[in-house]
Amino acid sequence: MEKDIATPKRTKEILEKYGFSFKKSLGQNFLIDTNVLHRIVEASNVTDASGVIEIGPGIGALTEQIAKRAKKVVAFEIDQRLLPILKDTLSPYEHVHIIHRDVLKADVSQVITEQFKGYDDLAVVANLPYYVTTPILMKILEEKLPVRAIVVMIQKEVAERIAAEPNSKEYGSLSIAAQYYAEAKTVFTVPKSVFVPQPNVDSAILRLTLRDEPPVDVPDEEFFFDIVRASFKQRRKTILNNLSKHFNLPKTEIEGYLNDANVESRRRGESLSMEEFALLSHVLYAVLYK
Ligand code: SAM
Repeated sequence: MEKDIATPKRTKEILEKYGFSFKKSLGQNFLIDTNVLHRIVEASNVTDASGVIEIGPGIGALTEQIAKRAKKVVAFEIDQRLLPILKDTLSPYEHVHIIHRDVLKADVSQVITEQFKGYDDLAVVANLPYYVTTPILMKILEEKLPVRAIVVMIQKEVAERIAAEPNSKEYGSLSIAAQYYAEAKTVFTVPKSVFVPQPNVDSAILRLTLRDEPPVDVPDEEFFFDIVRASFKQRRKTILNNLSKHFNLPKTEIEGYLNDANVESRRRGESLSMEEFALLSHVLYAVLYK
């Protein structure tokens, strides 16, 4: 039995064998700590009945640990140079399927239909390329893919923004966008030393547990998220100023709508709960689209 891929020694051997050079532009920071990998897989609650979608398998460090637990793993990898390496390192795991594609351009829903027919439990587990963390997460959430949970290693700062509560400096439109679809929790943080090469930023494991239903009722999702983004456009300005500018309407008029939604006009976006944004979007939708 070969040793785990994610030891500093074996990773170095693999990289040297194939003369692999990291591409910073593809966010290539590989994990070399099996303990961290075990904790990621643990946090995903994957069982031998689960199907797992991985994004960016690299040389297979995380893929291998998922494969030891799950029924099947399907991984999207953009970098062609990694395909022969993965074929080699993951050869003991027949239930791993690699797809050479940019996940942002992939029809993931179609892949799920083809690869995971009859599966009751699906999860996304990944050490994400940091340059596209948010687009990847928002794609999975907005496409409403049938997954139970998303467990990902991302920049600590982004994890904190996603899981943030109102009245904190991290709370913003990204928190609401993610929490509309899922319950968010930062599970643990990791030092830079668990990667080669080491990234410039600290990292954290974020778990998103997808909701069956959104936690609030909105008149129109696009409109709701538009109001949220507009309210945070200039964080230090009041919601009154931000919305009046966004809709190009007099402050007195916006003030009336805020009153109707029970939102004091001097408040800032960061103090509004998702429920308050939902109510406000109903009021504004009714007057603007009547
Ligand atoms: N999973 C490996 C690990 O933990 O060691 C590698 C993680 S590394 C942070 C990110 C991986 O994502 C790299 O293998 C990179 O080539 C791949 N990648 C970058 N952009 C991608 C994209 N748009 N679609 C699919 N894979 C991508």
